[in-house]
Parts: sequence; structure tokens; C-alpha cells
Amino acid sequence: RAKQHGRGRAEIFDETLRRQLAARAETEAAIAAALDGGGMRLVYQPVVDVAGGRLHGFEALLRWERDGVPVPPDQFIPVAEASSLICDVDRWVLHEATRQLAAWRARTTPPPGAPEPTMAVNVSGRHLTDRRVVADVAGALAASGLPPHLLVLEVTETVLVDDPVALTHLAELRALGVAIAIDDFGTGYTSIGQLRQMPVDTLKIDRSFVTSPDPGQRELVALVIRAAHTFGLDVVAEGVEEPEQLERLREQGCDHAQGYLLHRPLPAEAAGALLRPATPPALPAPRPAGTPQ
Ligand code: C2E
Ligand code: MG
Ligand code: MG
Ligand code: MG
Repeated sequence: RAKQHGRGRAEIFDETLRRQLAARAETEAAIAAALDGGGMRLVYQPVVDVAGGRLHGFEALLRWERDGVPVPPDQFIPVAEASSLICDVDRWVLHEATRQLAAWRARTTPPPGAPEPTMAVNVSGRHLTDRRVVADVAGALAASGLPPHLLVLEVTETVLVDDPVALTHLAELRALGVAIAIDDFGTGYTSIGQLRQMPVDTLKIDRSFVTSPDPGQRELVALVIRAAHTFGLDVVAEGVEEPEQLERLREQGCDHAQGYLLHRPLPAEAAGALLRPATPPALPAPRPAGTPQ
């Protein structure tokens, strides 16, 4: 009896596992098909200057509608990351985001004295350890014609700490002229002191610190901002939802902020509308009224 029972459980386990594997394979195939067939699109969340409120740049965020139902990136990115499919996903995003910023640049001009807006793209740790990553970034820059310094690659801190291959690739990417940002800073195990040796330009403080009501956490944010500035890094606060959070970040000297309080991630058209149209070519002077045509 016991034996029979045990075998039954094993069969159920096999069946569950088999279904999970099948579902995963199906999702992978659906992601690949969406990349080819137009089921993926990007939204762009503005990043603003904390001090003046001016637009600083955008972060490209991937959106997938599977048979009309939106699937959040937190659900499908991990599936893509389980195989080299994530490299295809990231490459698609790199091409689309750089093409979009280049297109906006062609018909807009930043206000006098304002820097040109940047485009940040998330690069998965798995892609960063893949040897194709440098060619993928270089390829997107070449195809779009975007100046490299306007592209920011967001990577998580874990990959920066302990992967020598990823570090080599990062050095090669920086040599291309692109900027590197540490995403979700504070959620990994990086200490403030380690920031000094990190091959990065920007630090993004994770939303969980920005929104925390705990005074200790707030003090930590102030400390991280000061340390980052000492090491020459730019600081972006993620997930700002309340005016008080923005005010505190201003007092703490944070450079840039991103969050629902400022802007939600926007479809391309709405994001592009935040940029100033290029001065139109001068029109011929209007004829004085009454002059013959
Ligand atoms: P992330 O890179 O840290 O992106 C920020 C996430 O926070 C985005 O979620 C954004 O919509 C959300 N967010 C922004 N402001 C607020 C706010 O004020 N409150 C709250 N509650 N959330 C806010 P999203 O778009 O769902 O993306 C989740 C994660 O998926 C991203 O985290 C990133 O790790 C990954 N991801 C998104 N797009 C891509 C992509 O193109 N490639 C790769 N490799 N990963 C991506
Ligand atoms: Mg990000
Ligand atoms: Mg983040
Ligand atoms: Mg995050």
C-alpha cells in the first residue's frame, strides 16, 4: 500500500514538473514570437532633475501583451533569463530605445543650457556575462546613430561585485563611451566603500529606501548620496511617489528622481511630447494685407 502511495506521488510530481516545463517552453516560444511579430513595445519613464524639475532623461521599460493580456516584466523577464533568450530580449530593447531617442533628437532641441536627454536601458546580468553584449550595444549605437554618451546601461549590483567576465565587458562598454548605472542599489550586498572601485557613473537608489518611513533608512539614503558624490557618481532616486519624499531628496542633495509622483512610464508619443520641438525653419514674412497676390 505504502509503495503504491509513494509511486502515485512520484507520478503526480512528474506530471507537475512536466507541465511546468511545458509551460515554460511555451512562454519562451511566445516571447521569441512577440519579439519578431510586434507583441512587444517600450514605455519610457522620465527621469527629472530634483533641483529644477527639468527633464534629465528616460528609462525604457518593456511591455508585453500576450493574447491581449499584459504580462508584467517581473513575470516574463525571469523566464527569458533562464536561457540566452534574454540576450535577444535585451538586444531588441537596445535597438528600439536607441532608435527612439535618435528619432526624438532629430525633431527636438533641448532648451538653451539644458543637457540633452539620455536613454537608460536595463541589461540583464546574464546578458552582461555573455560575450555578445559588447557587440549588441555597439550594434544598436551604429544602427541608430545615437551618440554613445546619451545611452545609459542599468545593471544590478550583484553582477558588479563577483563576476570577472561581467567586469571585463563593462570596461569594454565604457570604452565605447556609454554610461553605466547601478540599478536597485541597496537591495544587494554592496557596501558604500565598494562604490569607490565600481566602474559606474550613476547610482540608482532602490525604491524601498526612498519610500521607507524608518528614520535610520532615511539617514542611510543621505549617507549613500554623500558617498556617491564623493566618488564622482550621479544619483537617481527610484520610485518617488510622495511630495515629502521629493522634498527630502532635495534637502539630501540627490541629483535626479524618477517615480509616479513625477511621471508614470509613458507610451512613446507622450514621452516624446515632453521634448521641445526644434525651432521650425523661418517662414517667409507674411504679406501685408491688401498686397496683390
Ligand atoms: P527597474 O529597472 O528597477 O524599473 C523600475 C520599475 O519600477 C518599473 O517597473 C517601473 O514601472 C516601476 N516604477 C517606477 N516608478 C514607480 C513608483 O513611483 N512606484 C512604484 N511602485 N513603481 C514604480 P516595471 O516596468 O514593471 O519593471 C520591473 C523590472 O523589470 C525593472 O525594474 C527591470 O528590472 C525589469 N525590466 C523592465 N524592462 C526591462 C528590459 O527591457 N530588459 C530587462 N533586462 N529588464 C527589464
Ligand atoms: Mg532599471
Ligand atoms: Mg530600478
Ligand atoms: Mg527596481
